[in-house]
Amino acid sequence: MDYDVIVVGARVAGSALATLLGQQGHHVLLLEKAHFPSDTLSTHFFRNHALRVFERIGVLDEVKSVAPPLTTVWNYMDGEVVSEPVETSDEHLRYFLCVRRITLDWILAKRVSREPGVEFRQGAQVKELIRQDGRVTGVRWNESDGTGEASGRVVVGADGFYSTLAKTLEPAYESQIPVHRCMYYTYYQSIEPLEETSFAEHHFIGDSLTYVFPTDANLTLVALSLPISEFQSFRKEPLKRLRAHLDSLPLLAPRLRHAEIAAEVKGSANIPCYQRLPYGPGWALVGDAQQIMDPWSGMGIDHATTHASMLADALHRFLGDAAAWEAAMSDYHTQARQWSEKTYRRTSTYAADLRPMTLAALHRRGLK
Ligand SMILES: Cc1cc2nc3c(=O)[nH]c(=O)nc-3n(C[C@H](O)[C@H](O)[C@H](O)COP(=O)(O)OP(=O)(O)OC[C@H]3O[C@@H](n4cnc5c(N)ncnc54)[C@H](O)[C@@H]3O)c2cc1C
Repeated sequence: MDYDVIVVGARVAGSALATLLGQQGHHVLLLEKAHFPSDTLSTHFFRNHALRVFERIGVLDEVKSVAPPLTTVWNYMDGEVVSEPVETSDEHLRYFLCVRRITLDWILAKRVSREPGVEFRQGAQVKELIRQDGRVTGVRWNESDGTGEASGRVVVGADGFYSTLAKTLEPAYESQIPVHRCMYYTYYQSIEPLEETSFAEHHFIGDSLTYVFPTDANLTLVALSLPISEFQSFRKEPLKRLRAHLDSLPLLAPRLRHAEIAAEVKGSANIPCYQRLPYGPGWALVGDAQQIMDPWSGMGIDHATTHASMLADALHRFLGDAAAWEAAMSDYHTQARQWSEKTYRRTSTYAADLRPMTLAALHRRGLK
């Protein structure tokens, strides 16, 4: 075999996985069709779970240095304001971060490029899997100056929502929940801060949720999650509709007086929730390729990186002959499902309607 592991896709799941495997002494080929720096559709808010993985691969300080740490969660919920410090079990990680993917994914790509055991090919689009005796044993890819082919003991799809590996391998769905919401976002300059710039700000009004998160490059991300029923009318004039919505938020609208929109409005309306069987003979899936959640809860990066860390440890045991393939992968499967269960259930349940969640949050605080 040419490599221990071939990883397809080099954003939060793939770069983290390849770096961790390289750190553990394995020989890895990482293939990515994009060239970094490269953006992707995402509102890029993450918590201590992702931070822990960034710490493990040695990029926490760099990631933390590019955007303000958000140490307070500020929620406007149907007329009530609740402002609370970020609580986590990791004392040194009591903050959230919001780093644009063009910045975050490039930090990760630069990190994996420095890992001696990892060969990183950008601009390499995997087109086909190679199989032998029912087992995946390699990949074929296209790049600008031709085609490539390599074999590996394991091939991992970290290739996202449109995963080529998942399309080819057709793993069973363990859970599948239809699209309930759409999301639009843009970046602003010079929004007046609430009190400090370290607030992760949410405005819950009915079944809509608006996010205001200071991010890197002195920008503020402004995003809006809406029921999918609003998509057809919203998509016709997203900027006008977004502005009208922001103008209706009593504690945000006055602070936009001197603010300027610094980017086009982007959106997505096709993200369901699913969990796929994450492994089979010679292959595994990680990140959005194996589990996706409606972006309203902003948990994709935490889960993609944490699952990548779990998969790296399982593969390390398999590659070092400490566990058979089935035992190592079944551990990865169980661990990933147990770790994600609560968030997956909460995200998919409230994607259908955020209002019961808001009401319960107000009740818990004795506010309704
Ligand atoms: C609108 C929106 C808002 C979101 N907001 C948040 C948020 O606030 N917080 C959060 O945590 N999550 C958010 N998410 C989810 C988050 O973006 C994903 O969970 C995360 O990007 C998953 O990472 P990944 O590495 O698995 O996949 P991806 O980021 O999709 O990366 C997959 C990579 O694989 C590459 N690739 C694909 N096919 C091939 C191929 N055949 N050959 C080679 N390379 C290939 C792609 O080019 C890509 O670079 C949001 C998602 C959307 C759509």
